[in-house]
Amino acid sequence: MSPSAVLPETTSELTNAGITSNVVDNAPSITNGASNGSMSNIATSHAELDASKLKTMLTTSPRPVPEPNSPEVMAQKTCTDHMITAKWTEAHGWEAPELKPYGPLSIMPTASVLHYATECFEGMKLYRGYDNKLRLFRPNLNAARLLRSTTRIALPAFPPTEVQKLITKLCAVDGPKWCSNPGDFLYIRPTMIANDPALGVERPKEALFYVMLCCFPTLSRPGGLKLLASQDDMCRAWPGGFGYAKLGANYGPTLVAQGEARRRGFSQVLWLWGKEGYCTESGAANFFIVWKTGEGKMQLVTPPLDDGIILDGITRRSILELSKSRLSNGWKEEDLEPIEVVERMFTMDEVVQASEEGRLVEAFAAGTAWFVAPISLIHFRGKDVNVPMGTGESGRYAAILKGWLMGIMWGKERNEWGVVVEDEGVALN
Ligand code: PLP
Repeated sequence: MSPSAVLPETTSELTNAGITSNVVDNAPSITNGASNGSMSNIATSHAELDASKLKTMLTTSPRPVPEPNSPEVMAQKTCTDHMITAKWTEAHGWEAPELKPYGPLSIMPTASVLHYATECFEGMKLYRGYDNKLRLFRPNLNAARLLRSTTRIALPAFPPTEVQKLITKLCAVDGPKWCSNPGDFLYIRPTMIANDPALGVERPKEALFYVMLCCFPTLSRPGGLKLLASQDDMCRAWPGGFGYAKLGANYGPTLVAQGEARRRGFSQVLWLWGKEGYCTESGAANFFIVWKTGEGKMQLVTPPLDDGIILDGITRRSILELSKSRLSNGWKEEDLEPIEVVERMFTMDEVVQASEEGRLVEAFAAGTAWFVAPISLIHFRGKDVNVPMGTGESGRYAAILKGWLMGIMWGKERNEWGVVVEDEGVALN
């Protein structure tokens, strides 16, 4: 497609659905991988992002690996020896990606990202399994979600499979040294920014994709998470907005509320939406309730994706799939009764009512960083709702789901969700 090609008009109305289908129908850039619901810079793509063109420059100053959960790891500032970068311009498309020493980026003070929040990212982990193999967990879903995020903010499209290959390569190079003992993990942060130095408020003409691997602590809260529910004069996201995309713009504005919740002794904010107090997300994680209905049926309930308020979490998706495939007839070994999986809007009033009627069974948050984190208390409009913790430290459904996921991530269960990364030990002097 020529650089001056114009996006064909299918509707004169500026609707999200109209823009999305218009772009998806015409995107040349996403023929090579998952393209669901995505837009692309179709009028401008030239060279495709191509992992096979990777140029490698290894560091000559390798750094020591910090001890697990040491102060350096807790600070979440230590990255591995290398990073991946790939430049995109409207004029030429994607340049050959580079694997090079980890270090600062250089961008102009006028760069679009610094003014208009043209930034999005992913969060994944690299696991060193108990069979000594490195694994990623469903990395194709992260790559597809990154594409949904980039296209929401006019950043360029790419074949998700190429992003997955680049992430895998970085893990293969730095994993042997930085994620070396069974049970170790690294946090992976694929990012895209518009580094276009033009100050005009318009689609950026330059962008940078980069990936780093960060040393990360194990996040857990003994005794369960204590959540402070937001009031109806604030929300994290709204229908028609961008809560479904992993944009930096979704996170910065939540930090004041999160800091205030911590100051008051809570672990995270439970983000509610609207006057009715619909439950959406728990901090930067998806939110789950297990309750019995008035008729006595056990249900796992979580907010739906359709109105675009919440993130399509990969942990969320996996929990729903595992619950449907393994728990719909109960789990005899643990004496767990059959559970029905329900994705629907529900309010905090419903949770309070379930608690008052003795029907609230458990609650948990789920995401890559906090994994499956049991919730023991929710403070809502002046009242504490105590949430049962069946095993003392967790609800029983959360515990079994967490165990299954850990088995897949750390290679105790052979499953296609755990994608093996072949170690590429490189000699660094
Ligand atoms: N919701 C938000 C807002 C998040 O930032 C995250 C974490 O990345 C999640 C949910 C959980 O998503 P995932 O399971 O893909 O990590």
